Amino acid sequence: MKIAVCVKQVPSGDRPLDPRTGALIRAAGENVINPWDVYAVSAALQTARILKGTLTAISMGPPQAEETLRTAAAMGADSAVLVCGKEFGGADVYATAFTLARAIEKLGEFAIVFCGQQSTDGDTAQLPFSLAVQLGIPAVGWVKRIEKVSPGEMTVLQELGSGTQRLTFPFPAVIAAGMETCQPIPPSLKGRLKARGLAIQTLGPADLPCKGPYGLNASPTRVVKIERVHEQAKSQPLFLDPSAAARKIAEEMGVSANVLTSSS
Ligand code: FAD
Repeated sequence: MKIAVCVKQVPSGDRPLDPRTGALIRAAGENVINPWDVYAVSAALQTARILKGTLTAISMGPPQAEETLRTAAAMGADSAVLVCGKEFGGADVYATAFTLARAIEKLGEFAIVFCGQQSTDGDTAQLPFSLAVQLGIPAVGWVKRIEKVSPGEMTVLQELGSGTQRLTFPFPAVIAAGMETCQPIPPSLKGRLKARGLAIQTLGPADLPCKGPYGLNASPTRVVKIERVHEQAKSQPLFLDPSAAARKIAEEMGVSANVLTSSS
């Protein structure tokens, strides 16, 4: 059974933005695997082991995103694919999902595609759902635990904010893993050595089953302006003992305060 995991390379800190396109200048510093994707890879590996399947890590990004794929391989992914080309640059979440979906179709049928719940840079938390739409399969988000895996279906607990839901669903599906889904699997020494020599398959626009458009040209989103917003505090906190607090509240409300004190 073939399982895929989407991994994104993200900046490890603040990064400048291209003033022309509003896109992040990713080459301007250190990059790391998106923290959510560590959990996605770990959950995908555990699932692949139970189902005796193979795990392929897929990333869309510039050539340096290979490092992120090697991290996934060091954790245990069997193969890695980099979707790379200048035509993919400036992609918003729709265009990213479109491109990853075409790459996944090119690579063959996957029973499950794992993603992280969100990224630390774009942070739309929409890619898994957009990807599922593009692939024409269901998406299961906010997964907080995988309870049961069998060859045709999976049972998970989903954290829905208002409560926890148990859901059993058949494959194929896209799963968005949260940070509680499983314990992260650390890269082993053997894994690191294997990852260093792993041949990473690269797919460019000409390799995909659709001519495009891709990247900025396929993206409805335009980042027009990004600014840091400092929210003005509407009130100042007061630190008062209980009786002074009661008097202050009474004063604000225009009523008299009857504060009882106890000497015991
Ligand atoms: P999320 O949905 O947050 O990520 C969920 C999961 O999807 C990840 O954990 C990972 O498993 C997978 N994933 C995401 N990207 C990739 C990838 N390239 N390769 C492999 N797996 C991946 N885009 C918009 O559509 N609208 C915006 O408003 C917007 N604003 C942005 C603002 C800034 C400052 C920046 C830097 C980017 C912005 N983007 C925006 C672009 C956004 O980064 C891309 O759309 C991105 O590739 C996918 O969206 P995401 O990072 O939000 O993914």
